[in-house]
Amino acid sequence: MALENAQVLTIGIDLGGTNLRVAAYTPEHGVLNSITLRTRLEAGPPAVVDDMCDAIRELLHQYEEGRELAGIGVGSPGPLELPAGRLHHPPNLPGWDGFPLLEEMEKRLQRPVLLESDANVAALAEYALGLGKQLGVESLCMLTLGTGVGNGIILNGKLWHGATGMGGEAGHMTIHPDGPLCGCGNNGCLEACASATALVNAAERLIAAGKAPGLALMNSERGPLTARDLAEAAQLGDADAREIYAETGRALGICLAGLINILNLPLYVVGGGVANSWDLLSPAMFRELERRSYVYALTAPGRPASKGMPCGGTQVLPAKLGAEAGLLGACILPLYSLQASSVSA
Ligand SMILES: [Zn+2]
Repeated sequence: MALENAQVLTIGIDLGGTNLRVAAYTPEHGVLNSITLRTRLEAGPPAVVDDMCDAIRELLHQYEEGRELAGIGVGSPGPLELPAGRLHHPPNLPGWDGFPLLEEMEKRLQRPVLLESDANVAALAEYALGLGKQLGVESLCMLTLGTGVGNGIILNGKLWHGATGMGGEAGHMTIHPDGPLCGCGNNGCLEACASATALVNAAERLIAAGKAPGLALMNSERGPLTARDLAEAAQLGDADAREIYAETGRALGICLAGLINILNLPLYVVGGGVANSWDLLSPAMFRELERRSYVYALTAPGRPASKGMPCGGTQVLPAKLGAEAGLLGACILPLYSLQASSVSA
């Protein structure tokens, strides 16, 4: 195939604490193929990087001929130091503190690799392929409520990195000063109040205190509860499960009120598994937004100051791309690689 007819190819990797996914992608056809592997945490970081690079080579062998490789993008659990590409005490990758992920991948592949936090690549996917594209906005802020709470910020089409790649860590904004202990060492972070882990911990505290009889029964029948079990109980009307979700919505609203007051962006996206229970979370969340953010109260859709905003006012919406956002964002990262934004020293 002549080079002028060559399709652009990218490789995207979604590195998680449980699984890692590697995909081949073209802008024309989307994901061509993907490989899912268990993340062998017990084997140590070099072995996991070997697994990632073997999968990348396999996909390149299948799809590179006749195509032009635009780059390899990786979304990794943070905290991540950029541009060094080094992890610092990542709670979801125990044993990876100080590991130079970027350098180790480039050494094995002998090709340049682009690395971002998993929340940043999810934000990029929502911006380019999801809600951002649908609403035609150039800036957004995304929170992902999963095992932890991730945050990615895109300003005028560019990922916001801050000075060291650690910009956008709203998951560790303090919500309740004396709240539950967070993995980062602080008390009452959003992550300790609104992640899937926080929901389960809240239920376990109630059960241990002899409260929440419905959840205690569910726990005795099913074993350790998950956030999905709690959502099911809440949907069936269990008052304690509903209150846990409402409390999560309040924590989310307090955090978003601060972000809206600071950033005044047109779009805030809430993703991750917990956001699937939007109807359980969002009433309490919107009450907090109205109460705690006068910017929101003035710019919500239909309010006086919303006129002229790109999507009809400040929008706070559940994510569109679901669980695929991380992998898609890693795949398109090379296509947006020149657009990262950081503070000049
Ligand atoms: Zn924290």
